[in-house]
Amino acid sequence: MKLLEQRILQEGQVRPGNVLKVDCFLNHQLDVDLLDEIGAEFHRIFGADGINKILTIEASGIAIACMTARHFDVPVVFAKKAKSKNIDGDVFTSTVHSYTYGRDYDITLAKKFLGPEDKVLILDDFLANGKAMKGLLDICEQSGCTVGGIGICIEKGFQPGGAELREAGYKLASLAIVDSMSDDGLTFRAQ
Ligand code: 5GP
Repeated sequence: MKLLEQRILQEGQVRPGNVLKVDCFLNHQLDVDLLDEIGAEFHRIFGADGINKILTIEASGIAIACMTARHFDVPVVFAKKAKSKNIDGDVFTSTVHSYTYGRDYDITLAKKFLGPEDKVLILDDFLANGKAMKGLLDICEQSGCTVGGIGICIEKGFQPGGAELREAGYKLASLAIVDSMSDDGLTFRAQ
């Protein structure tokens, strides 16, 4: 998606540890017009796939998911980063290793919001090693829902998450794939 690539080039900042900062427009300050274009693009790609729910993870995925949901006219449900162990058994849980914080955390999703009747589009801002996505896919498997597709705003193509998900057969669409990044600049994969 050229518009997204342009914004990354104009405003993205490369930080130590291969972290790309895009907090001017994607995951802290939010450019709502850009998010609306992103939602339209995801709808163009997945709109005919029978999606009835959008699934994401707090916090950065939520705005992207909500703007996309406007185009699909379906609800959004997001996995929460758990602060305490659930003892009631009314939630699905999975453990995720955080790329940006370098530690493990649990995610939870109330069982009443996802089940075998659902066909979900999973969305997130970044795909790097694929750990967050694996946690969401684990929750999908526990719930018995169908994964209709995975939509990512920025895939870091030099990390293995994207290749692994494509290999596993998921319909994965990344609107921008960064193939290399350094202080000297970024390159995108042609697609
Ligand atoms: P993964 O689990 O695929 O390794 O990393 C994806 C998660 O880590 C995303 O939910 C995203 O929030 C965060 N993340 C990974 N790489 C980056 C990055 O370069 N920049 C930012 N801002 N977040 C990242």
